[in-house]
Amino acid sequence: MSKIYDVIILGAGPAGLAAGLYAGRSCLSTLVIEKGKDGGQIAITDEIENYPGQSLGEESGPSLIARMTAQVAKFGAERVSDVIKEVKLEGPVKTLIGNKGEYQAKAVILATGAFPRPIGCENEGKFVGKGISFCATCDANFFQDFEVFVVGGGDSAVEEAMYLTKFARKVTLIHRRNELRAAKSIQEKAFKNPKMNFMWDTVVEKVDGEELLDTMYCKNVKTGEVTVVKADPDDGLFGLFGFIGLLPNSKLFEGQIEMENGYIKTDDNMHTNIPGVFAAGDIRVKSLRQVVTAAADGAIAAMQAEKYLAEME
Ligand code: NAP
Repeated sequence: MSKIYDVIILGAGPAGLAAGLYAGRSCLSTLVIEKGKDGGQIAITDEIENYPGQSLGEESGPSLIARMTAQVAKFGAERVSDVIKEVKLEGPVKTLIGNKGEYQAKAVILATGAFPRPIGCENEGKFVGKGISFCATCDANFFQDFEVFVVGGGDSAVEEAMYLTKFARKVTLIHRRNELRAAKSIQEKAFKNPKMNFMWDTVVEKVDGEELLDTMYCKNVKTGEVTVVKADPDDGLFGLFGFIGLLPNSKLFEGQIEMENGYIKTDDNMHTNIPGVFAAGDIRVKSLRQVVTAAADGAIAAMQAEKYLAEME
């Protein structure tokens, strides 16, 4: 351990990358730490339709993120790929302990985002990667001409189900209510798509199969009736994609930082309850989790970190 950075940004999704851009441009010595690929949730999103100024129909999550990453590099933020296991956030110097080393900074921006909520059915763990997936962009091509089911009724479920219709011969959306939560414009496209089918008022109770997923027990929550869905014998399997919301990536900060339902509490300027510790993006308590709000959070957090550092001197 040697260098004490001005600011460490944990997470390189849209919030972390925007923070990296603003911190770097402000000539703060900046380190961005990410454990996997840049982009967080949008790295696995096929189509981005609502980021202001983009070319419509031409923007995918990975393409947008690639440009954000390049912009951060241009303004001088350092990068490291590591999994942080422990954080010490109190005091004037914050320490983050990872598998590869320890990192220190006077300010920290937490932008660790959120991850997909499990479907919650019996045997789910046994079939993740063997029929069950949480990423259409990653796994759709495995289901070329197969049958696919999607659980959820929000923007993600409907958009990703539509994406899956480009690969699967039939896509059935399973939703626990009889109306979708997704934006009306997205719903309209889905209802018009001839490959889309809907199972309303239904939850998946159990999944099964020899090696690969080929059986599913679906319960109608109004009638209690259970329908057994079996893979077509010629196929031998079907796909089941879960898009039922997100869970915050905040376990690392438990007991150190104020949270609400696992999301970090901040004020409008991204300050947490600990001086010098900021949070940005999906990880914080907020009303709208979108790329545009994540990027805005990141920019605010970086500028507030700069102000905090100036006042420390
Ligand atoms: P979401 O909006 O929270 O929707 C989650 C869906 O899953 C809801 O329909 C919910 O049902 C259902 N659900 C929740 N828990 C469930 C359970 N245990 N079993 C079965 N179903 C369950 O999540 P999201 O679609 O992932 O979106 C997250 C955020 O990203 C939202 O703010 C969304 O607007 C945004 N987003 C935006 C876009 C876009 O604008 N293009 C694309 C993707 C995501 P109920 O409806 O009954 O509650």
